[in-house]
Amino acid sequence: MALIVQKYGGTSVGSVDRIQAVAQRVFQTAKAGNSVVVVVSAMGKTTDSLVKLAKEISGNPSRREMDMLLSTGEQVSIALLSMALQELGQPAVSLTGAQVGIVTEAEHTRARILHIKTDRLQQHLQKGEVVVVAGFQGISSSNYLEITTLGRGGSDTSAVALAAALQADYCEIYTDVPGILTADPRLVPDAQLMAEISCDEMLELASLGAKVLHPRAVEIARNYGVPLVVRSSWTDDPGTRVTSPVLRTRSLEDLEIAKPVDYVEFDTDQAKVALLRVPDQPGVAASLFGEIAHQDIDVDLIVQSIHEGNTNDIAFTVSQSLLKRSEAVSEAFVQRGYNPALNDSSSAPETIVDREIAKVSIAGAGMIGRPGVAAMMFATLASAGVNIQMIATSEIKVSCVVAERDCDRALKSLCQAFDIHVSPVRLKPAPNESVVRGVALDINQARLAIRHVPDRPGMAAKLFGLLARENISVDTIIQSQRCHIVDGVPTRDLACTVAQADAQHARQVLAAEAAKLGFSDVSVDEAIAKVSVVGAGMEGHPGAAAKMFKALAQHQINIQMITTSEIKISCVVDRSQGITALQAIHQAFGLAGSEKIEVPA
Ligand code: ADP
Ligand code: ASP
Ligand code: MG
Repeated sequence: MALIVQKYGGTSVGSVDRIQAVAQRVFQTAKAGNSVVVVVSAMGKTTDSLVKLAKEISGNPSRREMDMLLSTGEQVSIALLSMALQELGQPAVSLTGAQVGIVTEAEHTRARILHIKTDRLQQHLQKGEVVVVAGFQGISSSNYLEITTLGRGGSDTSAVALAAALQADYCEIYTDVPGILTADPRLVPDAQLMAEISCDEMLELASLGAKVLHPRAVEIARNYGVPLVVRSSWTDDPGTRVTSPVLRTRSLEDLEIAKPVDYVEFDTDQAKVALLRVPDQPGVAASLFGEIAHQDIDVDLIVQSIHEGNTNDIAFTVSQSLLKRSEAVSEAFVQRGYNPALNDSSSAPETIVDREIAKVSIAGAGMIGRPGVAAMMFATLASAGVNIQMIATSEIKVSCVVAERDCDRALKSLCQAFDIHVSPVRLKPAPNESVVRGVALDINQARLAIRHVPDRPGMAAKLFGLLARENISVDTIIQSQRCHIVDGVPTRDLACTVAQADAQHARQVLAAEAAKLGFSDVSVDEAIAKVSVVGAGMEGHPGAAAKMFKALAQHQINIQMITTSEIKISCVVDRSQGITALQAIHQAFGLAGSEKIEVPA
């Protein structure tokens, strides 16, 4: 006999028939002798309809009233499912988030779970009842009891958090696809089911646009070692297992807001190669990294910043022993005069190398959606007087390239700031790990370009601190390699991506400080899409980046920005090319299969 938490998404409870089918499955699970807690979403597209209603009344509805409104959707489905279970002769009781005691922060529409009371749940379970809990909602712990919601897609988070709090044997997420696939089957029809995926990989995929799981749900599964499965609510097929690292004991207090950073890493065996003013056209990154891969050079970070005129800068890091070879390849690439139109020496491409660098990183699943964490890293480095040369971000890691002589100071201050006492053991992927697991598309992002930011310690901290204060999460952050002297001050351009909904606000917040901070202007481009490949096996496989860039080049897709981590590569491309780009990279990595995946309309 096990304690199981099952979660059913909107489509899975979208009609009376579907609710009855779900009741059957829950009934069978309980009849087999298990204790069952069920978490449900609102029926079908109810939440979307409620949002639409609110928008008809107000262009800018208050967050509190939105929570009051949206939380009603789940209250309907829990009651109906309980009734359906009772009809089958299965004792059941429905509970709202407040009735359970899912205590959250007082942040309306995006609250994080602080604590879940389990006594009432346990009492019902002991009586042999199935408990049907409303997903996506909680109650804030401030003076007044206020209904909060966890952010769109948050029922997954409710389910995994309940499983963690109850120390359930496992958590099953039932949805409208057979499990986690190599891509969204609605966009890539030949996507294939994965039997399993690691939490780290899934965290990246979920945050990069694969909405099959809410990233915060994966974060909790990872932090608390909750065994997690994603399956179809239409079949009995086993679905996809999401595997977590060895279980560590963590307090259940401040469930979602405990330590955001698990460890601080450093690597002094790094060297940087930067190519300045390479042509901004499809195929350039593909041919450069194609040649690099051909030489069997394993590249670590790659960043490509916003273009200026018709040229781009691309920078990458490699281990010191590979610098000579990398430099030779890059020199030859640049010398070949890739763009013969550029023969004036001030605008000719050039290669610069720097072996006196180090990479310092903070890593942890708790950074997701918490813009303050990266900002705190930048502020910590600034107050230690450390200038940041390159920034590479992923959902679970922020890496900064700094001067090697600053590395010790940087580390010491980061360990202090994030309360880290142990040095990490870096997990290397198993040799048989597949290189790329899956691909994802995010079309809800916009790009901010901040021009001519003075190149001195503290600027990234100030800029991203401003955004963090407004609760604006910044995704990809890229600093240009090229330096411009403006009024005698060396400056660089900075680009980052933010959620589209935050873009104009972010621009205003930054523009208001332009004169004070000494940069020239901020612009927004909303017509972008981000395509990404994710896989723990990419580390140590030199060709992955080249393969991705080549696939894009073959479709004449220009890459506007590149950013990487050990387990992902993301490219920003024009919005109109997003789906083509996704399909092209899915194909290029051989992820397509012949099995037809059924997707409900
Ligand atoms: P639910 O209502 O059950 O929570 P969601 O709509 O939130 O369902 O998530 C399931 C959807 O996620 C699928 O229908 C699919 O279109 C989409 N999706 C995106 N990426 C993936 C992926 N890699 N694997 C499976 N589904 C994906
Ligand atoms: N009903 C909520 C939404 O549509 C929560 C969820 O389905 O996970 O976002
Ligand atoms: Mg969902």
